[in-house]
Amino acid sequence: MKYLFTPGPVPLPHEVASSGARPMIGHRSEEFSALLLRLQNRLRDLLKSSGPVVLLPSSGTGALQSLVENLLRPGDVVISVSCGQFGFRFREMASRMDCQIVPVDVPWGGAVAPEAVVEAVKAHPEARAILLTHNETSTGVINPIHAIASALPKERPLLLVDVVSSLGVTPCLPEAWGVDALAGASQKGLLCPPGVGVVWLSPRAWEALESLGHPKSFYFDLLGYKDSMERLQSPYTPPISLFYSLDAALSLLAERGYAKWWKERRRFAAAFAAGVEAMGLDLLVSQKRHRSPGVTAIKTPKAKRLKDVLYGMGVEVAGGLGALNGQIVRVAHYTDMAWPEMCLILGSIYGAAKSTGLSVNASFLDAAQRVWEEDVPCGKC
Ligand code: PMP
Repeated sequence: MKYLFTPGPVPLPHEVASSGARPMIGHRSEEFSALLLRLQNRLRDLLKSSGPVVLLPSSGTGALQSLVENLLRPGDVVISVSCGQFGFRFREMASRMDCQIVPVDVPWGGAVAPEAVVEAVKAHPEARAILLTHNETSTGVINPIHAIASALPKERPLLLVDVVSSLGVTPCLPEAWGVDALAGASQKGLLCPPGVGVVWLSPRAWEALESLGHPKSFYFDLLGYKDSMERLQSPYTPPISLFYSLDAALSLLAERGYAKWWKERRRFAAAFAAGVEAMGLDLLVSQKRHRSPGVTAIKTPKAKRLKDVLYGMGVEVAGGLGALNGQIVRVAHYTDMAWPEMCLILGSIYGAAKSTGLSVNASFLDAAQRVWEEDVPCGKC
């Protein structure tokens, strides 16, 4: 038996996996248009937005690249806020586009403070865009996008947000929050296989795009996608099987009720964190309110060994990225996990930690259960 606890891909709900195995249909058929319309409506419902949502045949990186290639041009001043590896990657994309980067760096394990972004915007009124990561998967930090957007002056650069590891697992409400662009992906909080990029733009961002004109990228031309979407078409051959899976996953989330689903994910994360700490292991993110509902990072000098021992047991977790390579293990909890999975992952970590020579104590289940039974508030990050 194998247990997947990596921050994407995540274990697939049965309905999602079986929907992806449906017979093929032609992508110029009425049936396909109906599928696309359903996906549009379900995603608008999830995002609480009336605007178009573009589906790209790509992983999250492609969706992020589409934002950069469509909304930025060489020479643009771009405020790039990073609190981990994925913040750096978003920056690197803008940098390769020959934008002038204004870096705002937050120590890894911490969250972005709204004041730091406001300060950078005031110092650079000429900036064209701000790049932010909602859920920094490399550290397990969730950033307060709503608070950041609300703190910005009225006249402000476009706010582009990486929601690759937050979409589905926590509220992402771009219209209500005043965000201009989102780029997400299918394989984490959307509970699907990898391969679909999700892009949403505000009316202001679509207008900016109209005035900038078509990007150099032919495949990631968002105006071209929007045009096709309006006719319920895909400009190129789409990943139809993945669209079926996404349809099933979005239907599952809607049936459960988003608020309930988000609350359950926060509850799992909070109880898991309590169990890990009670065991005597350190969490990378010290501030509870900044901890991700989707992924938790455990900091230990024996991280590599711990990950390998877990893997040998059949439990796959992720290691650290970039500066945290060899220093943390990351455990993801995006799916419908409950108390049995809590016992499985905490018990496995306990056993693996002991066999790597770490000193851990056995009271972890009581601590996790205490938090499990509390009424965890639904986060608004
Ligand atoms: N941004 C974030 C926050 C991510 O977690 C990831 C994937 N781990 C990416 C970007 C890159 O996405 P992908 O691997 O799907 O291309």
